[in-house]
Amino acid sequence: MRIAVGGIGHETNTFSTLRTSIEEFHVVRGGGITDDAFWAEVGGGDVEWAPTLMATAAPHGLVEQSAYTGLRDELVERLRDAGPVDGVFLALHGAMEVEGIGDGESDLLRAVRETVGPDVLISASFDLHGNVAPEVVAALDIMTALRTAPHRDGAPTRRRAATHLIRCLREGLRPVCEMVKPPLLLPGEYAITEVEPSASLYARLPEIESLPGVLDASLFIGCPWTDGPHSSPAAIVVAERVLSLARGLAVELAQAVWDRRDDFGTDVETLPVGDAVDAALAAPESTVFISDSGDNVTAGGGGDNPDIARRLIQADASGAVVAGIADAEAVQVCREAGVGAAVSLSIGGKLDAVNGAPLDVAGVVRHLDDPSDADVATVQAGGVEIVLATDRRAFLSLGAFESASIDPLARKVVVVKLGYLFPELRDNAPRAIMALSPGFSDLRMTSLPFERVPRPIFPLDRDFAWSAA
Ligand SMILES: [Zn+2]
Repeated sequence: MRIAVGGIGHETNTFSTLRTSIEEFHVVRGGGITDDAFWAEVGGGDVEWAPTLMATAAPHGLVEQSAYTGLRDELVERLRDAGPVDGVFLALHGAMEVEGIGDGESDLLRAVRETVGPDVLISASFDLHGNVAPEVVAALDIMTALRTAPHRDGAPTRRRAATHLIRCLREGLRPVCEMVKPPLLLPGEYAITEVEPSASLYARLPEIESLPGVLDASLFIGCPWTDGPHSSPAAIVVAERVLSLARGLAVELAQAVWDRRDDFGTDVETLPVGDAVDAALAAPESTVFISDSGDNVTAGGGGDNPDIARRLIQADASGAVVAGIADAEAVQVCREAGVGAAVSLSIGGKLDAVNGAPLDVAGVVRHLDDPSDADVATVQAGGVEIVLATDRRAFLSLGAFESASIDPLARKVVVVKLGYLFPELRDNAPRAIMALSPGFSDLRMTSLPFERVPRPIFPLDRDFAWSAA
């Protein structure tokens, strides 16, 4: 059997004043998509993969229309050139919003379905932080999403989407998907799958999946920073044949999410910015990570708000690191000055000029990741090291700090442009505090200027009833 492979993945933060251009996308074409062991192993002997185009970009502002349509048109052209296929596998994120088009996945699925016709099975894998439009469910035959946040199950999720597809093709099954969406805005930071109530809700998925006649079950948290008509969690069940079976289970799961709406939260302390800095400096733990959650680049934050750096310098902190602040100009000044030189910089506050303002810093260049072509420069101002990067950069792992020549666990306070800590940091941080900072990825839903989400929606509206049935 022949199965086409492709995808365009983006998590769009529409509160960002920035735009996602074509340069932001990492694009793989043709054989480069399927040349690793995963595809050989999942496919087995009788599957011939027909790779098309796979494009992904880090979470960021609205996708420029020409960037999206260029990728979509190339994917469709390659799909057409691939000739007749039995199935299509797509790797998507969900939550892609395109200038002048709206929901990107709806548009992409429409184009793919038009190209392959009504009889070809289409299966897609998603990030659980995707927002799912009804058109997407209608166009797909099979869908599944990550079941862990922080994400630890990318490969198993893609494997499920692919193996379901192969099995359905072999057995001649035409599965049916059903979706029920509770009216709720839920930031990912408040739905960590290791923490209640998410842990119990996600534990339901394998149970549902194991029921006779059920192919797959997903619980999307959604992306609340995509201000659009489809932003909400989604309970999705795929049945082998019987729509009412999928419907009943999706209703039950969606109701369970709604019933627990007041219980979602993080398992780390959340504090206003000033209190977070004070608590970290006074902490007995050897290292405290502070997530600058409103400026979380993994949720489309600007990644250059220097406010916490300012507070640490004002507090005369020692052993503190702020990683990183996106500022290409400041990196260039450091590069030209060289390691050991004294520099005067105006740091950050340029990408997100709504919530931040530049910070004037007099410091010393401590490190450049490459003396002649540095992307990362570390500047020391008193006891505070500020890691500057040419791009919006999340320091997701301990190893990521190597580019700044810093061992984060040897520092007292480590500020990162994240919401929840990603797995390695989460597993190693002696203590973590989530600062409720302003920004494009503000965790306080009522602080954001929503215009397009359907109302009523919790927690913007609290006094309304809803039933999944
Ligand atoms: Zn995600």
